[in-house]
Amino acid sequence: MISDSLDLFGKPPNLVSAVPVMVPLPVDGPYSYAVPEGMVVMPGSVVQVPVGPRKVIGIVWDEAADLVDPKKLRPIEHVFDCPPVSDGMRRFVDWVASYTLTPPGLVARMAVRAPAALEPEPMVEGVRLTGVQPERMTPARSRVLELAEEVPVWTRLGLAHAAGVSTSVVDTMMKHGVFETIFLPPPPAVGLPEPDHAPPDLSPDQQVSADKLVDAVRAGGFSVTLIDGVTGSGKTEVYFEAIAETLRQGRQVLILLPEIALTSAFLGRFESRFGAKPGEWHSDLAPRMREKVWRQTSEGTVKVVAGARSALFLPFDDLGLIIVDEEHDTAYKQEDRVFYNARDMAVVRARIGGFSAVLASATPSVESQVNALSGRYDRLHLPGRFAEAALPDLTTVDMRRHPPARGGFLSPVLIDAVERSVKRGEQALLFLNRRGYAPLTLCRVCGHRFQCPNCSSWLVEHRFRGQLMCHHCGHAEPVPEACPECGTLDHLVACGPGVERIAEEVEKHFPERRTIILSSDMAGGVKRLRLELEAVANGEADIVIGTQLVAKGHNFPLMTTVGVVDADIGLANGDPRAAERTFQLLSQVTGRAGRTGLASRGLIQTYQPMHPVMQAIVSGDAEAFYEREIGEREKSGLPPFGRLAAVIVSAETRAEAEVHARGLRASAPHGRTISVLGPAEAPLALVRGRYRFRLLVHGRRTDDIQAYLRAMLENGPKQRGSVRVQLDIDPQSF
Ligand code: ADP
Ligand code: ZN
Repeated sequence: MISDSLDLFGKPPNLVSAVPVMVPLPVDGPYSYAVPEGMVVMPGSVVQVPVGPRKVIGIVWDEAADLVDPKKLRPIEHVFDCPPVSDGMRRFVDWVASYTLTPPGLVARMAVRAPAALEPEPMVEGVRLTGVQPERMTPARSRVLELAEEVPVWTRLGLAHAAGVSTSVVDTMMKHGVFETIFLPPPPAVGLPEPDHAPPDLSPDQQVSADKLVDAVRAGGFSVTLIDGVTGSGKTEVYFEAIAETLRQGRQVLILLPEIALTSAFLGRFESRFGAKPGEWHSDLAPRMREKVWRQTSEGTVKVVAGARSALFLPFDDLGLIIVDEEHDTAYKQEDRVFYNARDMAVVRARIGGFSAVLASATPSVESQVNALSGRYDRLHLPGRFAEAALPDLTTVDMRRHPPARGGFLSPVLIDAVERSVKRGEQALLFLNRRGYAPLTLCRVCGHRFQCPNCSSWLVEHRFRGQLMCHHCGHAEPVPEACPECGTLDHLVACGPGVERIAEEVEKHFPERRTIILSSDMAGGVKRLRLELEAVANGEADIVIGTQLVAKGHNFPLMTTVGVVDADIGLANGDPRAAERTFQLLSQVTGRAGRTGLASRGLIQTYQPMHPVMQAIVSGDAEAFYEREIGEREKSGLPPFGRLAAVIVSAETRAEAEVHARGLRASAPHGRTISVLGPAEAPLALVRGRYRFRLLVHGRRTDDIQAYLRAMLENGPKQRGSVRVQLDIDPQSF
């Protein structure tokens, strides 16, 4: 604090102010730095500061707290010429850090970028006609002139390229005075969306919902609305109206999507409604584009961003609305460094910023359902599919009664349904959430199983690549010619199906049809996948075999049969959330069928057709299903009726991990309502060469589980050697 005597005599010339700076490191709070004479910083300023021998980018976190002797504190080295990180954003970072028990510096790191995004974008050098004629006309020069007369301003390179001449032609003309140099502001990342570019005619149901959302945006202030309605019911069209209203207010919008890199169709749809694409934000964006979107979001020039979960940490200038589409999707949970659920943090961001959040899903999470039932969230419901589009006719295929042919996985009923669809010139989708050829590979002679050297998981054969791969650490090895244990040649047997194996079976049945596998690990990466998804939408394939990435949001107009190869996969693991997850996945994937009015079917292969999930899917009675799920969670005090946190202790040796986990368990404070389960080996006990033990902390809804965990860590053994402790508040599986 500034002492009275200093105030009386004014600031002595040898003192400077000290500000707290949040550095992107795993430390508990901001560090103090001196502000050199003549430098101006304010809360939120992005600065470069020294930490030990390094230079890092930090954020001035609060007002100056002290006057200090500049010799005693290291100075801020540089202030970046970018808008300060808003007060709301800084409070959001603090909130996320304290909720997830992550050092705030690590959360703040998600809210800053490399210097290139922080300095103003350079002006673009362009050329413009002066009216002076070239000294001598050549065909090349006249082509250049023609273009320059048509479009007044070009870059030197752009003009040469467009005219099909070398840049020296343009340079010579400049020397002759035909062109002059001008400087242009950097081009925007995306155009300006217009709220009234092409408004739709909403159905009466949509109109009612849209009006409510628009009212919430107009009223201002924090609100959360859950929109549910089957796939294709027109939810997107409805929340577009809330976006339009926010744009009319001149404020910015964030749309979170679970698989943004693969949903180019969404961008196109946004563009037809608003006349410009939204800014994109995801890890497949080119670095230059990322910097541009970052910078222009902070300046307020990018009005709408459609992004993956990390877009929550973009430095919006004036954010006024967040949409979380497919809010139930598990892709919103980050389980790496900072463990957070972007859906929940979006609601927190809206509360801090005092604006509306909209959660949309055909199969809302139990958490959001309970919030809507209790009145914490508003709820809007769209009853049927938009226009004529009928929902697919859904049936289970009891695999005990309709067994597949030997060595196959598709029942005759399903094969017949596929046949009918493709005969009509329509498409069929076979869904199996398993990449590769087979989930388990073994030696037929000695029974040797191929296991990952780094993880407790089997290697999965990928026949197209000729490799055995681990889906947890990426370890890959060529399929060996001889069994490493008994030496037998040609020994491998595949156990169970993966998409590649289903494709093989499909090709046997439909040799003349165009089949395509859509799986995240096929060669060519995201670019290739995008093209293939488009190809499917354009009818360029008859039969699609896909993993869950085809389940999400895509609109395939000709898709009329969806077959679920193995609906029971997700139910076996004993996780209390398994039923909910399976219900959501099956609803989504069968929802790919019949989006444009053609009659359509979904066939669900299962060995347990009476299972409540299968019954709910087939009857379409989601409400009864959710009621049961909610009832069971309430009975056992599971989220959202109780609170859970996982403590994962990992180390390079099993003993180290186990001893540390036991030590933590022993130092857990005595809680009347909070209990600790474990330690037990984590569901995946060895990952990337690290052994993992897990403690599960369970409390009531009102318990301060974070305080409990903090106490446990403080009392617990010091982290030594290779031991690492990760905290996961609200874990995905329990
Ligand atoms: P959801 O988001 O619920 O899955 P969509 O908003 O994608 O549903 O709507 C499903 C289909 O119906 C889309 O092809 C969409 O373009 C169309 N659609 C929805 N509402 C309208 C409307 N009011 N006018 C014209 N087409 C609409
Ligand atoms: Zn592995």
